[in-house]
Order: sequence, then structure tokens, then C-alpha cells
Amino acid sequence: MDLKEQNYLDHLVGVFGQPVSENPGVVIQEAAFQAMGLERWRFLTIDVDRDQLENAINGLKAFKMRGINCTMPHKIEVIKYLDEISESAKLIGAVNTIVNDGGRLFGENTDGKGFMMSLESNGIDVNGKSAVVFGAGGAARSICVEMGLAGIADITIVNRTQDRHLGDGLVEILQKNTKVKVRYVDWDGPYSIEEGTDIVINATSVGLYPDIDAMPDIDMDSIKDNMFVQDVIPNPVETAFIKELRRRGIPSSTGAGMLINQAALNILMWTGMEPDKDIMYQALERELS
Ligand code: NDP
Repeated sequence: MDLKEQNYLDHLVGVFGQPVSENPGVVIQEAAFQAMGLERWRFLTIDVDRDQLENAINGLKAFKMRGINCTMPHKIEVIKYLDEISESAKLIGAVNTIVNDGGRLFGENTDGKGFMMSLESNGIDVNGKSAVVFGAGGAARSICVEMGLAGIADITIVNRTQDRHLGDGLVEILQKNTKVKVRYVDWDGPYSIEEGTDIVINATSVGLYPDIDAMPDIDMDSIKDNMFVQDVIPNPVETAFIKELRRRGIPSSTGAGMLINQAALNILMWTGMEPDKDIMYQALERELS
């Protein structure tokens, strides 16, 4: 008689953050695991105090977790506990995904990579193009670095607060490490997008739940239908900005699409398998509607 295999070992991944309870990663990832037949893979949402990160990383190793996402406030601090980080994570100065290979920890930043995958799935190649990026925080930083490394010709960063660590620091990093022509503009009123711009990116938190009626202060008439607009806001799935762009017939993609792409990349890094992004997107839509 064949004995049924008895293997109840859980494969653990998850997210460390604070606050973290509103992070929908578990919904997206576990929907993918189920569809892939990875029944014993679990995505844990873990609240880690700022001063407990080292213990949390030791816990990850002790539990032989396969990997973890890091969100605020740990993305920068976590680097000192890692054995190796990717080139782009080094330039961005932040890690959001860790892979644990038998106790050796590798750090990657998938924020900008999810963004690039979202552009690619819309048929956009950044090589030789020009972009206007609103915002100069963590998301903008990873997006600009990835576009710079992929050969974009021109980036204009528009931000309301000029800050050495954000706008200026980012300009310097791009100038030193990529060939992109980059300039920084203060955002002090409705911004008019220059003609000839190919890609427009809202990399601010404007429009994020619960402030769902807010729109970035952009002259909407300056956005033309030969431009492509990418929003970073994942919640709501369709922001007021994206709704208005769609009403005007401007090609665009949501931050939810970007989030799904980076979650799919995380799963590939942890399991070695490609998940079904449609299933992940539907799970997110169901959760946030
Ligand atoms: P940060 O706090 O690092 O940066 C926020 C940016 O938004 C800053 O440039 C800030 O400007 C700007 N900003 C905030 N409020 C306003 C406003 N009212 N008017 C103009 N600018 C404003 O956050 P992150 O960069 O980490 O995240 C930004 C957004 O990106 C979040 O909503 C997050 O959910 C989303 N995100 C989405 C991802 C995805 O996969 N879809 C991945 C990563 C992030 P200032 O410097 O002047 O304060």
C-alpha cells in the first residue's frame, strides 16, 4: 500500500514593517501560491519595531524563512544585516526584498523593477526617451535609478520640497552613475508638462487611500495622448488621476499594476516559479473594492 506523504513543513515569506497592518501583500501572494499549488507557502505580515530589526532578521534565519519584504521604516536600516545587495539597490540606497539562501541574505529593490515591468507590459521601452517624475521620495528614487540604468535620455524631477537627501541627492546619484540628462524643478503650482515628453510618472503619495479624491497638481491639458502616464498609487486600484486620464483618452497604467509586477518578481525570486499575475490582480481588486 502506498503511504500518503506526510510533510507539513511551512515555507515562510512575508513582510516586516511598521505600520504594516494595511499592507495587502498577503492577499496577492497567497492567491498566487494557491494557484501555483504551493499549499504550504505562507506570507506573514509582521509588525517589527524600529529597534527590533536585528532580532527580526535573526528570527528570519532561525525560522529558515525563504525571504522577506521590508517596508517603512526598515528599507535602509536592513542593509547592514545583509551579505550582498544588488547594484541598483546600492544606488537606490534601500532594499525591499530579501532572499535567504541557507542563511546567506541577498537584498534587492523591486519597486523600480515592478515599475519597469509595468511599462514593458504596456509596450514602452525607456531607452532614449524623456520622462517627467513627480516626487523625489523612495518610489521616485527607485524608478529614476532603474530608468537611468535602462538608458533613458532625459529625466525632469519635480518635487515640492527641495531636500539634499531627496531631490538633490537623487540628481547627483543619477549623474554619477548613469548617462541620463537630469534636472530638478521646484513644484510650486500647477505643473505644465513639456511638449515632447514621452513618459509622465506620479511618484508622490497624492491620491492614496483614504485621500482618494486628491490629484497631483498638474495642468491636465498639458498631458497629450502621445505620452504614457504611470501612477504609483496601489490603493485605490484606480486613482482619481488615472480615472481623469482614461476619460481624456491618455494611455496610462495604475500603481496596482506596478505592485502586482513587483510581487510577481518577489515570488519568482523566492520560489523560482512564475506566478499568474491576472490571479494576483483579481485578488487585489476584490480586496480593495
Ligand atoms: P516618500 O514618503 O518617500 O515620498 C513621498 C513623495 O510624495 C515625496 O516626494 C513628497 O514630497 C511627495 N508628496 C507627498 N504629498 C504631496 C503633496 N500633497 N503634493 C506634492 N507632493 C507630495 O514615499 P514613497 O516614495 O516611498 O511612496 C510614495 C507612494 O508610492 C506611496 O503612496 C506608496 O504607496 C507608493 N508606492 C507604490 C509602489 C507600487 O508598487 N505601486 C511601490 C512603492 C511605493 P516632499 O518631498 O515635498 O514631501
